Amino acid sequence: MARAAPLAVNALARRLATGLALALGLGLTGNSVAQPAEFEPATVPMEVRKVSEHVYYVLGQAGMVSTANQGFNSNAGFVVTRDGVVVFDVLGTPALGKRFADLIARTTPQLVRRIVISHYHADHFYGLQAFVAGELQVWADARVRDYLASDAPAARLAERRQSLGPWVNERSRIVAPHTYLDADAVFQLGGLTFRVLRVGPAHTPEDLMLLVEEEGVLFVGDLMFAGRIPFVGDADVSAWIKAIDRVLAFKPRIVVGGHGPASTNADAELRTTRDYLAYLRAQMAAAVEAGIDFEEAYQRTDWSAYAALPAFAAANRRNAYQTYLSVEREALGVSK
Ligand SMILES: [Zn+2]
Repeated sequence: MARAAPLAVNALARRLATGLALALGLGLTGNSVAQPAEFEPATVPMEVRKVSEHVYYVLGQAGMVSTANQGFNSNAGFVVTRDGVVVFDVLGTPALGKRFADLIARTTPQLVRRIVISHYHADHFYGLQAFVAGELQVWADARVRDYLASDAPAARLAERRQSLGPWVNERSRIVAPHTYLDADAVFQLGGLTFRVLRVGPAHTPEDLMLLVEEEGVLFVGDLMFAGRIPFVGDADVSAWIKAIDRVLAFKPRIVVGGHGPASTNADAELRTTRDYLAYLRAQMAAAVEAGIDFEEAYQRTDWSAYAALPAFAAANRRNAYQTYLSVEREALGVSK
């Protein structure tokens, strides 16, 4: 069970940090008037969808991050209780986070009390910047510490300033969680039971899921890509498959993934992602075993069951290559 620091202490720490940042900012910028807005307006269509009595989400557009979708390609959810709101993920730019925060405020007068971040991929947490002025707690898995201590966050931020400017700009920053979970956690708020489950390493080392128990709604982050080819990246495919098996055991009524529509047919959706990953891995493992190089293995593999799914062209070849490399590393006994 994770223990959260008292809200008042966090709020004080945050006020001090904000004061410091302001002081530094003034010192650095002097009289410069060319500061971009912290939250450039995100004008991409976004609407709140109701999932169950207390649960809502916004649905990102299909496909990869682009300037056309202003980075809005992922989902974010929120649960309204009589004692406050719990949020799951906050979208891929500070601008989108602001838009999402405004939509929550239009849906309920309750304040956001807690944010659970599924994993520290840019498209799921960059919106934090728009939320952290409030008296709230941001929770993430303890393994996010490793990510934040690496060079990756700065490199990704630089890339996103290029690919998603002006919505990610010079004022955009990486926001760390307040609380790092090193075990599953359960908490009650406003009559609902929230179960935070650590399921990494799967899509990333730090994957979290959130179950809203009374309503049977499970937020799974990027463990499920409903109706599209998942983005594998540097995922551990075997562990991901195991994590999906664990999710299936909860028999959730409704699953909200990180991409694609919420599903009342959770079982089938999860199995599609699982089967794709298993197929990918089996094909690439057989090729490595037979000493076939990647190019030939990719050409020989029958992709017809998946070729019509969205994001196939953008993601499949890369997914196969990543899987091929990781199987090869395993075969050589090298860890990454
Ligand atoms: Zn992701």
